[in-house]
Amino acid sequence: MEKTYDLVIIGGGAAGLTAGLYASRARLKTVLLDKGMIGGQIALTDRVENYPAFPEGATGVELGMKMHEQATKFGMETEFVEVEGLELDGKYRRVKTSDGDFICKAVIVASGSEHRRLGVPGEDEFAGKGVSYCAVCDGAFFNNQIVGVVGGGDSALDEGLFLTKFVTKAFVIHRRDQLRASKILQERAFANPKMEFVWDTVLESIVGDGEVKALNLRNVKTNERRILDVGGVFIYVGIHPNTDFLKGLLPLDNGGHIQVNLQMETEVAGIFAAGDVRQHSARQLVSAAGDGATAALSAEGYISETTWD
Ligand code: NAP
Repeated sequence: MEKTYDLVIIGGGAAGLTAGLYASRARLKTVLLDKGMIGGQIALTDRVENYPAFPEGATGVELGMKMHEQATKFGMETEFVEVEGLELDGKYRRVKTSDGDFICKAVIVASGSEHRRLGVPGEDEFAGKGVSYCAVCDGAFFNNQIVGVVGGGDSALDEGLFLTKFVTKAFVIHRRDQLRASKILQERAFANPKMEFVWDTVLESIVGDGEVKALNLRNVKTNERRILDVGGVFIYVGIHPNTDFLKGLLPLDNGGHIQVNLQMETEVAGIFAAGDVRQHSARQLVSAAGDGATAALSAEGYISETTWD
């Protein structure tokens, strides 16, 4: 059965939840669609220390739940469904989901991103058996073990530092000798005796016997090979936007991000994008929230300026 709304928001991360708050306060009939985990990437984050007004930090789950509670208080509805497609239907937009179609005047795509796979032998075979992309979810399974962490960005260091609560050693394997992570995370990582850096090195394959046992590494400068015995490996080599369901409807950049202008408008009228999923996003919680507010204000303006049947 079709359901009708003024605004459909796709994705329950910081961008979608903030858009929901603004839209429901603007008295738009709004529904937020999510696959099941409110909060998006922050729900996978142990401690958020860079969101203003929380000098002691807050857990990602706590922030996500509070954002949802706030938007819901003003009338935003939530449906837990999988979005399968987005189509034009005259002046209206049709969001196709695992639980039927949602017809609306405007859509905000805030579907976020997920961690990229590295694409090495063993990665798929041992997924969930020692290969992980989420320390907050899986870290406790590696109590008193040695693990590898691949990557040199904020995610690798943030999640690597979290892992040191459980593991005896976290080897950070990075393909260069410089990190791209923020300086404050670098300082903490270098000061943590459980973190050890393996520079200029790539992970070539993951081996095991039912579960991960070792990593085959190669130094890219010397070509020297090394086997590192580990109980698991956490992979943080960048993120991939969740835009597959858009299927050619919107122009995407080479990385699959949605192109928007400063009003978060896409090239298609009535479709807006916000947060990690859009091109040139700063990929921070606070900027995602800002995008969500901008997109909701633009959607409100679009809906009120358009003549509807
Ligand atoms: P990222 O910043 O894109 O870093 C990816 C890392 O993986 C880079 O160090 C990169 O190496 C490495 N890499 C990429 N492809 C690789 C490959 N094929 N083999 C080996 N290494 C590879 O991704 P991220 O760390 O997931 O962060 C994503 C965004 O979220 C960033 O904007 C980040 O600031 C944000 N974030 C922020 C926080 C925070 O504020 N606390 C926490 C998590 C994430 P090179 O450096 O050589 O390119």
